[in-house]
Amino acid sequence: MKVQVCIIGGGPSGLLLSQLLHLKGVDTIVLEKHSREYVLGRIRAGVLEHGFAALMREARSGERMDREGEIHEGFFISRDGVLSRVDLHKYSGGNSVIVYGQTEVTRDLYDARDRLKGAVEHNVEDVQIHDVKSDAPFVTYRRGDEIVRVDCDYVVGADGFHGVSRKSIPKEVLREYERIYPFGWLGVLSRTKPVSPELIYCKHERGFALCSMRSQVLSRYYIQVPLDDRVEDWSDESFWAELKRRLPEKVAGDLVTGPSIEKSIAPLRSFVAEPMRYGRLFLAGDAAHIVPPTGARGLNSAASDVYYLYHALIDHYQKSDDAGLDAYSQKGLARVWKAQRFSWWMTTLLHKFPENTPYENKLRETELDYLFSSEKALGSLAENYVGLPF
Ligand SMILES: Cc1cc2nc3c(=O)[nH]c(=O)nc-3n(C[C@H](O)[C@H](O)[C@H](O)COP(=O)(O)OP(=O)(O)OC[C@H]3O[C@@H](n4cnc5c(N)ncnc54)[C@H](O)[C@@H]3O)c2cc1C
Repeated sequence: MKVQVCIIGGGPSGLLLSQLLHLKGVDTIVLEKHSREYVLGRIRAGVLEHGFAALMREARSGERMDREGEIHEGFFISRDGVLSRVDLHKYSGGNSVIVYGQTEVTRDLYDARDRLKGAVEHNVEDVQIHDVKSDAPFVTYRRGDEIVRVDCDYVVGADGFHGVSRKSIPKEVLREYERIYPFGWLGVLSRTKPVSPELIYCKHERGFALCSMRSQVLSRYYIQVPLDDRVEDWSDESFWAELKRRLPEKVAGDLVTGPSIEKSIAPLRSFVAEPMRYGRLFLAGDAAHIVPPTGARGLNSAASDVYYLYHALIDHYQKSDDAGLDAYSQKGLARVWKAQRFSWWMTTLLHKFPENTPYENKLRETELDYLFSSEKALGSLAENYVGLPF
Protein backbone atom coordinates (compact mmCIF):
# COMPACT_ATOMS: atom_id res chain seq x y z
CA MET A 1 0.00 0.00 0.00
CA LYS A 2 1.27 3.52 -0.76
CA VAL A 3 -0.03 6.77 0.77
CA GLN A 4 1.42 10.24 1.03
CA VAL A 5 1.16 10.51 4.82
CA CYS A 6 0.96 7.56 7.20
CA ILE A 7 -0.47 8.65 10.57
CA ILE A 8 0.05 6.44 13.61
CA GLY A 9 -2.66 6.93 16.25
CA GLY A 10 -6.40 7.47 15.89
CA GLY A 11 -6.85 9.93 18.76
CA PRO A 12 -7.88 13.54 18.16
CA SER A 13 -4.47 14.61 16.73
CA GLY A 14 -4.25 11.84 14.14
CA LEU A 15 -7.89 12.02 13.08
CA LEU A 16 -7.95 15.81 12.80
CA LEU A 17 -4.77 15.90 10.73
CA SER A 18 -5.93 13.14 8.39
CA GLN A 19 -9.29 14.84 7.90
CA LEU A 20 -7.71 18.25 7.13
CA LEU A 21 -5.19 16.73 4.71
CA HIS A 22 -7.83 14.62 2.98
CA LEU A 23 -9.91 17.74 2.30
CA LYS A 24 -6.88 19.23 0.51
CA GLY A 25 -6.37 16.13 -1.58
CA VAL A 26 -3.52 14.58 0.44
CA ASP A 27 -3.80 10.84 0.79
CA THR A 28 -3.49 9.47 4.34
CA ILE A 29 -4.03 6.35 6.38
CA VAL A 30 -4.57 6.30 10.15
CA LEU A 31 -3.31 3.25 12.05
CA GLU A 32 -4.97 2.84 15.47
CA LYS A 33 -4.03 0.19 17.99
CA HIS A 34 -7.46 -0.05 19.62
CA SER A 35 -11.05 -0.48 18.48
CA ARG A 36 -13.18 2.58 17.87
CA GLU A 37 -15.37 1.73 20.87
CA TYR A 38 -12.30 1.65 23.10
CA VAL A 39 -11.02 5.02 21.86
CA LEU A 40 -14.48 6.55 22.35
CA GLY A 41 -14.74 5.10 25.85
CA ARG A 42 -11.85 7.23 27.16
CA ILE A 43 -12.97 10.24 29.19
CA ARG A 44 -10.42 13.01 28.88
CA ALA A 45 -10.33 16.70 28.03
CA GLY A 46 -13.33 19.00 27.94
CA VAL A 47 -12.23 22.60 27.35
CA LEU A 48 -11.43 23.74 23.80
CA GLU A 49 -9.70 26.89 22.65
CA HIS A 50 -11.23 28.78 19.74
CA GLY A 51 -8.16 27.94 17.66
CA PHE A 52 -9.00 24.27 18.10
CA ALA A 53 -12.66 24.92 17.31
CA ALA A 54 -11.67 26.75 14.11
CA LEU A 55 -9.66 23.71 13.00
CA MET A 56 -12.64 21.44 13.70
CA ARG A 57 -14.79 23.68 11.46
CA GLU A 58 -12.13 23.72 8.75
CA ALA A 59 -12.14 19.90 8.99
CA ARG A 60 -15.93 19.99 8.43
CA SER A 61 -16.35 18.38 11.82
CA GLY A 62 -17.52 21.31 13.90
CA GLU A 63 -21.28 21.34 13.37
CA ARG A 64 -22.28 19.43 16.51
CA MET A 65 -19.59 21.20 18.54
CA ASP A 66 -21.11 24.56 17.54
CA ARG A 67 -24.62 23.31 18.32
CA GLU A 68 -24.00 21.50 21.59
CA GLY A 69 -20.74 22.99 22.93
CA GLU A 70 -21.05 25.70 25.57
CA ILE A 71 -19.22 29.00 25.33
CA HIS A 72 -17.63 29.87 28.67
CA GLU A 73 -16.57 33.46 29.22
CA GLY A 74 -15.08 32.88 32.65
CA PHE A 75 -14.31 30.44 35.44
CA PHE A 76 -14.00 30.54 39.20
CA ILE A 77 -11.11 30.01 41.57
CA SER A 78 -11.99 29.08 45.14
CA ARG A 79 -9.31 29.98 47.69
CA ASP A 80 -9.93 27.98 50.81
CA GLY A 81 -13.67 28.47 50.47
CA VAL A 82 -13.81 31.98 48.97
CA LEU A 83 -14.92 32.20 45.33
CA SER A 84 -13.47 34.70 42.84
CA ARG A 85 -14.36 34.84 39.16
CA VAL A 86 -11.84 35.16 36.33
CA ASP A 87 -13.60 37.08 33.57
CA LEU A 88 -11.94 35.57 30.51
CA HIS A 89 -13.96 37.68 28.12
CA LYS A 90 -12.98 40.95 29.78
CA TYR A 91 -9.32 40.14 30.39
CA SER A 92 -8.54 38.37 27.11
CA GLY A 93 -10.00 41.09 24.93
CA GLY A 94 -13.29 39.38 24.09
CA ASN A 95 -12.18 35.74 23.90
CA SER A 96 -13.67 32.64 25.55
CA VAL A 97 -13.41 28.82 25.53
CA ILE A 98 -15.81 26.08 24.43
CA VAL A 99 -16.80 23.27 26.77
CA TYR A 100 -17.21 20.17 24.59
CA GLY A 101 -15.82 16.76 25.55
CA GLN A 102 -12.86 15.12 23.84
CA THR A 103 -15.00 12.01 23.42
CA GLU A 104 -17.46 14.03 21.32
CA VAL A 105 -14.63 15.68 19.36
CA THR A 106 -13.25 12.23 18.55
CA ARG A 107 -16.68 10.87 17.65
CA ASP A 108 -17.28 13.81 15.27
CA LEU A 109 -13.89 13.26 13.66
CA TYR A 110 -14.55 9.54 13.15
CA ASP A 111 -17.92 10.40 11.58
CA ALA A 112 -16.23 12.91 9.29
CA ARG A 113 -13.59 10.35 8.27
CA ASP A 114 -16.39 7.87 7.51
CA ARG A 115 -18.26 10.41 5.37
CA LEU A 116 -15.15 10.92 3.22
CA LYS A 117 -14.40 7.19 3.27
CA GLY A 118 -11.04 7.98 4.90
CA ALA A 119 -8.78 5.04 5.65
CA VAL A 120 -8.67 4.30 9.39
CA GLU A 121 -7.36 0.86 10.37
CA HIS A 122 -8.26 -0.27 13.88
CA ASN A 123 -6.76 -2.99 16.07
CA VAL A 124 -3.41 -2.83 14.29
CA GLU A 125 -0.63 -4.58 16.17
CA ASP A 126 3.12 -4.25 16.32
CA VAL A 127 3.40 -0.97 14.38
CA GLN A 128 6.99 -0.33 13.34
CA ILE A 129 8.51 2.67 11.60
CA HIS A 130 11.32 2.15 9.06
CA ASP A 131 13.86 4.26 7.16
CA VAL A 132 12.60 7.70 8.19
CA LYS A 133 16.04 9.14 7.45
CA SER A 134 15.68 8.06 3.82
CA ASP A 135 13.42 9.46 1.07
CA ALA A 136 11.34 6.28 1.15
CA PRO A 137 10.12 5.62 4.68
CA PHE A 138 7.59 2.89 5.40
CA VAL A 139 5.52 1.57 8.27
CA THR A 140 4.66 -2.05 8.97
CA TYR A 141 1.95 -3.48 11.19
CA ARG A 142 0.42 -6.84 11.93
CA ARG A 143 -3.20 -7.71 11.17
CA GLY A 144 -3.79 -11.23 12.43
CA ASP A 145 -1.05 -13.34 10.85
CA GLU A 146 -0.44 -10.88 8.04
CA ILE A 147 2.29 -8.19 8.04
CA VAL A 148 1.10 -5.12 6.14
CA ARG A 149 3.54 -2.59 4.69
CA VAL A 150 2.59 1.06 4.10
CA ASP A 151 5.01 3.07 1.93
CA CYS A 152 4.73 6.82 2.34
CA ASP A 153 6.38 10.22 1.96
CA TYR A 154 6.01 11.12 5.64
CA VAL A 155 5.15 9.41 8.92
CA VAL A 156 3.24 11.29 11.61
CA GLY A 157 3.52 9.92 15.14
CA ALA A 158 0.23 10.90 16.81
CA ASP A 159 0.14 7.82 19.01
CA GLY A 160 0.07 9.43 22.42
CA PHE A 161 2.53 9.25 25.30
CA HIS A 162 2.88 5.44 25.27
CA GLY A 163 3.08 5.05 21.48
CA VAL A 164 5.93 3.72 19.35
CA SER A 165 6.76 6.84 17.35
CA ARG A 166 8.76 8.79 19.90
CA LYS A 167 10.56 5.60 20.89
CA SER A 168 11.65 5.15 17.26
CA ILE A 169 13.85 8.23 17.51
CA PRO A 170 17.38 7.24 18.56
CA LYS A 171 18.20 7.97 22.20
CA GLU A 172 21.22 10.06 21.29
CA VAL A 173 18.98 12.40 19.26
CA LEU A 174 16.02 12.70 21.64
CA ARG A 175 16.07 14.99 24.67
CA GLU A 176 13.33 14.44 27.22
CA TYR A 177 12.26 16.91 29.91
CA GLU A 178 9.94 15.66 32.60
CA ARG A 179 8.31 16.52 35.89
CA ILE A 180 6.22 13.93 37.71
CA TYR A 181 3.91 15.40 40.32
CA PRO A 182 3.54 13.66 43.68
CA PHE A 183 -0.24 13.25 43.34
CA GLY A 184 -2.99 12.32 40.87
CA TRP A 185 -6.54 13.37 40.02
CA LEU A 186 -9.42 11.10 40.92
CA GLY A 187 -12.15 11.90 38.38
CA VAL A 188 -15.84 11.05 38.48
CA LEU A 189 -18.29 11.45 35.61
CA SER A 190 -21.94 11.57 36.64
CA ARG A 191 -25.25 12.16 34.93
CA THR A 192 -26.06 15.14 37.12
CA LYS A 193 -26.57 18.84 36.57
CA PRO A 194 -23.24 20.71 36.99
CA VAL A 195 -23.04 22.55 40.30
CA SER A 196 -21.99 25.75 38.56
CA PRO A 197 -22.51 27.13 35.04
CA GLU A 198 -18.74 27.75 34.88
CA LEU A 199 -15.76 25.64 36.00
CA ILE A 200 -14.58 26.00 39.60
CA TYR A 201 -10.90 25.36 40.40
CA CYS A 202 -10.52 24.90 44.17
CA LYS A 203 -7.37 25.40 46.18
CA HIS A 204 -7.96 23.89 49.61
CA GLU A 205 -5.84 22.77 52.54
CA ARG A 206 -7.11 19.19 51.99
CA GLY A 207 -5.98 19.34 48.34
CA PHE A 208 -7.14 20.58 44.94
CA ALA A 209 -10.60 19.97 43.48
CA LEU A 210 -12.22 20.84 40.16
CA CYS A 211 -15.90 21.13 39.24
CA SER A 212 -16.14 20.69 35.50
CA MET A 213 -18.75 19.47 33.06
CA ARG A 214 -19.35 18.01 29.64
CA SER A 215 -22.93 19.35 29.22
CA GLN A 216 -25.83 20.60 31.31
CA VAL A 217 -26.67 17.00 32.25
CA LEU A 218 -23.17 15.53 32.50
CA SER A 219 -20.77 16.62 35.24
CA ARG A 220 -17.08 15.89 35.66
CA TYR A 221 -15.51 16.36 39.10
CA TYR A 222 -11.96 15.78 40.26
CA ILE A 223 -10.10 15.70 43.55
CA GLN A 224 -6.37 15.59 44.16
CA VAL A 225 -5.36 12.25 45.70
CA PRO A 226 -2.06 10.66 46.75
CA LEU A 227 -0.32 8.72 43.98
CA ASP A 228 -0.74 5.39 45.76
CA ASP A 229 -4.54 5.68 46.08
CA ARG A 230 -6.50 3.16 44.02
CA VAL A 231 -9.90 3.73 42.42
CA GLU A 232 -11.28 0.77 44.41
CA ASP A 233 -10.44 2.69 47.60
CA TRP A 234 -12.98 5.34 46.68
CA SER A 235 -16.70 4.58 46.84
CA ASP A 236 -18.99 7.14 45.20
CA GLU A 237 -20.08 8.26 48.68
CA SER A 238 -16.54 8.85 49.91
CA PHE A 239 -15.72 10.77 46.70
CA TRP A 240 -18.71 13.11 47.05
CA ALA A 241 -18.02 13.65 50.74
CA GLU A 242 -14.38 14.58 50.10
CA LEU A 243 -15.30 16.84 47.18
CA LYS A 244 -17.82 18.70 49.36
CA ARG A 245 -15.19 19.31 52.05
CA ARG A 246 -13.03 21.14 49.49
CA LEU A 247 -15.80 23.30 47.97
CA PRO A 248 -17.11 26.64 49.29
CA GLU A 249 -20.00 25.93 51.68
CA LYS A 250 -22.70 27.32 49.37
CA VAL A 251 -21.39 25.32 46.38
CA ALA A 252 -21.21 22.13 48.47
CA GLY A 253 -24.82 22.72 49.51
CA ASP A 254 -25.92 23.03 45.87
CA LEU A 255 -23.99 19.95 44.65
CA VAL A 256 -26.21 17.31 43.05
CA THR A 257 -24.62 13.89 43.50
CA GLY A 258 -25.40 10.64 41.73
CA PRO A 259 -23.86 7.33 40.74
CA SER A 260 -20.54 7.61 38.91
CA ILE A 261 -20.65 6.41 35.32
CA GLU A 262 -16.85 6.57 35.08
CA LYS A 263 -14.25 6.82 37.80
CA SER A 264 -10.49 6.84 37.27
CA ILE A 265 -7.22 8.16 38.63
CA ALA A 266 -4.87 10.04 36.31
CA PRO A 267 -1.28 10.70 37.41
CA LEU A 268 -0.06 14.22 36.71
CA ARG A 269 3.01 14.67 34.57
CA SER A 270 4.72 17.41 32.55
CA PHE A 271 6.79 16.07 29.66
CA VAL A 272 8.40 17.40 26.49
CA ALA A 273 10.45 15.51 23.90
CA GLU A 274 12.73 17.42 21.57
CA PRO A 275 13.01 17.54 18.59
CA MET A 276 9.53 16.88 17.23
CA ARG A 277 10.97 15.86 13.87
CA TYR A 278 13.40 13.12 12.97
CA GLY A 279 13.98 12.75 9.24
CA ARG A 280 10.57 12.13 7.73
CA LEU A 281 8.92 11.35 11.07
CA PHE A 282 6.96 14.15 12.76
CA LEU A 283 5.59 13.86 16.30
CA ALA A 284 2.27 15.51 17.16
CA GLY A 285 0.23 15.84 20.36
CA ASP A 286 0.78 13.63 23.40
CA ALA A 287 3.42 11.63 21.53
CA ALA A 288 5.73 14.62 22.03
CA HIS A 289 4.43 16.40 25.11
CA ILE A 290 1.97 16.14 27.95
CA VAL A 291 0.82 18.49 30.69
CA PRO A 292 -1.17 18.10 33.89
CA PRO A 293 -4.83 18.85 33.08
CA THR A 294 -4.88 22.00 35.27
CA GLY A 295 -5.40 24.80 32.78
CA ALA A 296 -6.75 22.54 30.00
CA ARG A 297 -3.72 22.74 27.71
CA GLY A 298 -3.27 19.05 26.70
CA LEU A 299 -5.69 18.65 23.84
CA ASN A 300 -5.24 22.28 22.83
CA SER A 301 -1.46 21.85 22.53
CA ALA A 302 -2.10 18.83 20.31
CA ALA A 303 -4.26 21.07 18.11
CA SER A 304 -1.48 23.61 17.59
CA ASP A 305 0.87 20.83 16.42
CA VAL A 306 -1.79 19.70 13.97
CA TYR A 307 -2.21 23.28 12.74
CA TYR A 308 1.53 23.73 12.04
CA LEU A 309 1.94 20.28 10.50
CA TYR A 310 -1.17 20.58 8.33
CA HIS A 311 -0.02 23.89 6.87
CA ALA A 312 3.55 22.65 6.44
CA LEU A 313 2.41 19.52 4.57
CA ILE A 314 0.03 21.48 2.37
CA ASP A 315 2.84 23.92 1.47
CA HIS A 316 5.00 20.93 0.60
CA TYR A 317 2.41 19.24 -1.62
CA GLN A 318 0.86 22.33 -3.20
CA LYS A 319 3.84 24.70 -3.50
CA SER A 320 6.87 22.41 -3.13
CA ASP A 321 7.79 24.65 -0.20
CA ASP A 322 9.43 22.81 2.70
CA ALA A 323 10.04 25.81 4.95
CA GLY A 324 7.09 24.84 7.19
CA LEU A 325 8.30 21.26 7.55
CA ASP A 326 11.83 22.45 8.32
CA ALA A 327 10.53 24.88 10.97
CA TYR A 328 7.91 22.51 12.43
CA SER A 329 9.84 21.29 15.46
CA GLN A 330 11.10 24.72 16.47
CA LYS A 331 7.72 26.41 15.96
CA GLY A 332 5.77 23.66 17.67
CA LEU A 333 8.08 23.54 20.66
CA ALA A 334 7.99 27.30 21.17
CA ARG A 335 4.23 27.11 21.76
CA VAL A 336 4.40 23.79 23.61
CA TRP A 337 6.79 25.23 26.19
CA LYS A 338 4.47 28.17 26.82
CA ALA A 339 1.63 25.73 27.48
CA GLN A 340 3.97 23.77 29.77
CA ARG A 341 4.80 26.92 31.70
CA PHE A 342 1.15 27.82 32.14
CA SER A 343 0.08 24.31 33.21
CA TRP A 344 2.97 24.10 35.65
CA TRP A 345 2.05 27.52 37.08
CA MET A 346 -1.67 26.64 37.51
CA THR A 347 -0.78 23.25 39.01
CA THR A 348 1.73 24.72 41.44
CA LEU A 349 -0.63 27.49 42.44
CA LEU A 350 -3.66 25.36 43.20
CA HIS A 351 -2.41 21.99 44.51
CA LYS A 352 -1.19 20.93 47.90
CA PHE A 353 2.39 19.66 47.64
CA PRO A 354 3.47 17.27 50.38
CA GLU A 355 6.98 18.73 50.40
CA ASN A 356 5.93 22.41 50.63
CA THR A 357 7.18 24.40 53.60
CA PRO A 358 4.92 26.96 55.38
CA TYR A 359 6.97 29.63 53.61
CA GLU A 360 6.15 28.19 50.18
CA ASN A 361 2.48 27.89 51.14
CA LYS A 362 2.44 31.57 52.08
CA LEU A 363 3.97 32.44 48.72
CA ARG A 364 1.21 30.53 46.92
CA GLU A 365 -1.43 32.42 48.87
CA THR A 366 0.30 35.68 48.06
CA GLU A 367 0.47 34.76 44.38
CA LEU A 368 -3.32 34.32 44.39
CA ASP A 369 -3.84 37.58 46.31
CA TYR A 370 -1.70 39.33 43.74
CA LEU A 371 -3.57 37.70 40.87
CA PHE A 372 -6.93 39.03 42.01
CA SER A 373 -5.53 42.47 42.81
CA SER A 374 -3.91 43.06 39.42
CA GLU A 375 -5.69 43.44 36.11
CA LYS A 376 -2.39 42.77 34.35
CA ALA A 377 -1.99 39.45 36.18
CA LEU A 378 -5.58 38.50 35.35
CA GLY A 379 -4.89 39.51 31.74
CA SER A 380 -1.94 37.13 31.60
CA LEU A 381 -3.99 34.28 33.09
CA ALA A 382 -6.86 34.90 30.67
CA GLU A 383 -4.57 35.21 27.63
CA ASN A 384 -3.01 31.83 28.38
CA TYR A 385 -6.27 30.09 29.35
CA VAL A 386 -8.09 31.00 26.12
CA GLY A 387 -5.00 29.95 24.17
CA LEU A 388 -2.04 31.81 22.74
CA PRO A 389 -2.22 32.39 18.99
CA PHE A 390 -0.90 29.60 16.74
C1 LIG B 1 -6.86 10.53 31.88
C2 LIG B 1 -6.60 11.76 31.06
C3 LIG B 1 -7.32 12.94 31.32
C4 LIG B 1 -7.09 14.09 30.58
N1 LIG B 1 -7.80 15.22 30.84
C5 LIG B 1 -7.54 16.34 30.13
C6 LIG B 1 -8.23 17.55 30.37
O1 LIG B 1 -9.09 17.62 31.24
N2 LIG B 1 -7.93 18.64 29.61
C7 LIG B 1 -6.97 18.59 28.61
O2 LIG B 1 -6.74 19.57 27.90
N3 LIG B 1 -6.31 17.46 28.35
C8 LIG B 1 -6.57 16.35 29.09
N4 LIG B 1 -5.89 15.23 28.82
C9 LIG B 1 -4.94 15.27 27.74
C10 LIG B 1 -5.63 15.05 26.40
O3 LIG B 1 -6.59 14.04 26.52
C11 LIG B 1 -4.57 14.71 25.38
O4 LIG B 1 -3.72 15.83 25.26
C12 LIG B 1 -5.12 14.31 24.01
O5 LIG B 1 -5.77 13.07 24.09
C13 LIG B 1 -4.01 14.24 22.99
O6 LIG B 1 -4.48 13.68 21.82
P1 LIG B 1 -3.54 12.76 20.92
O7 LIG B 1 -4.36 12.39 19.75
O8 LIG B 1 -2.25 13.46 20.71
O9 LIG B 1 -3.21 11.49 21.83
P2 LIG B 1 -4.18 10.33 22.30
O10 LIG B 1 -5.53 10.87 22.58
O11 LIG B 1 -3.48 9.63 23.40
O12 LIG B 1 -4.31 9.39 21.05
C14 LIG B 1 -3.25 8.54 20.65
C15 LIG B 1 -3.84 7.33 19.96
O13 LIG B 1 -2.78 6.51 19.51
C16 LIG B 1 -3.11 5.16 19.77
N5 LIG B 1 -1.87 4.39 19.87
C17 LIG B 1 -1.03 4.28 20.92
N6 LIG B 1 -0.01 3.49 20.63
C18 LIG B 1 -0.20 3.06 19.35
C19 LIG B 1 0.52 2.22 18.50
N7 LIG B 1 1.65 1.64 18.89
N8 LIG B 1 0.05 2.00 17.26
C20 LIG B 1 -1.10 2.61 16.84
N9 LIG B 1 -1.84 3.40 17.63
C21 LIG B 1 -1.38 3.65 18.86
C22 LIG B 1 -3.90 5.22 21.06
O14 LIG B 1 -4.74 4.09 21.23
C23 LIG B 1 -4.69 6.50 20.90
O15 LIG B 1 -5.96 6.29 20.34
C24 LIG B 1 -6.10 14.08 29.55
C25 LIG B 1 -5.39 12.90 29.30
C26 LIG B 1 -5.61 11.76 30.04
C27 LIG B 1 -4.79 10.51 29.76
